[in-house]
Amino acid sequence: MRTIGLLGGMSWESSAEYYRIVNQEVRRRLGGTHSAECVLWSFDFAEIEALQADGDWATAAARLIDAGRGLEAAGAELLVLCTNTMHRLARPLEDALAIPLLHIADATAAALHAGGRRRVGLLGTRYTMEADFYRGRLEAVHGLDVIVPEEIERTLVHDVIYDELVRGLVRPESRAAFDRILDELFAAGADAVILGCTEIELLVDPDADPRLYPTTRLHALAAVEAALAP
Ligand code: GLU
Repeated sequence: MRTIGLLGGMSWESSAEYYRIVNQEVRRRLGGTHSAECVLWSFDFAEIEALQADGDWATAAARLIDAGRGLEAAGAELLVLCTNTMHRLARPLEDALAIPLLHIADATAAALHAGGRRRVGLLGTRYTMEADFYRGRLEAVHGLDVIVPEEIERTLVHDVIYDELVRGLVRPESRAAFDRILDELFAAGADAVILGCTEIELLVDPDADPRLYPTTRLHALAAVEAALAP
């Protein structure tokens, strides 16, 4: 089994899910008392959030690279960046490290293709929904059509993530709002929706609808697949 390096704390609410899922999946596959070999780097998310808000992606990249090197030095053999948003910095991180980065959009796109999905809605932070690093990869590399909610809903989704989910708040009103936005994306022609922020599956039950693609779960399962590959 390869050692998984979890680059997390963005936020720890979802990193805890990664840790749970990789361990449960290794036990499911290997049985007995098996569990995942992994190392976790967990940031103080307040620092990362401030860098995002300031648009200081260069400093954020330097922080990720330092942490990634720490994971490498601790024995990680593959890197799992436990956030969709920070995949904006996947390229500099990959360039700086010797171990492979398992890209969250690639793990998600593989599941979408396996399900025969083509036109996908995307929910996530404003950075993920609006910048090209994520949608562009889904479209250009994976041949998917990506649609996002209208501006007013994008603001709502972004605010729920930063004002509630990364602070451990799960509010029924927000769940109802997300359900409405999901319905609108399906009505607009999406045949699937990516829960493209690693905390959304704490709010929306990903098992409620087979058209939902939860990135934390898919990414963590892909990490186990890679860790156990011959
Ligand atoms: N975990 C979130 C994501 O998947 C948002 C927090 C962050 O900005 O990293 O995008």
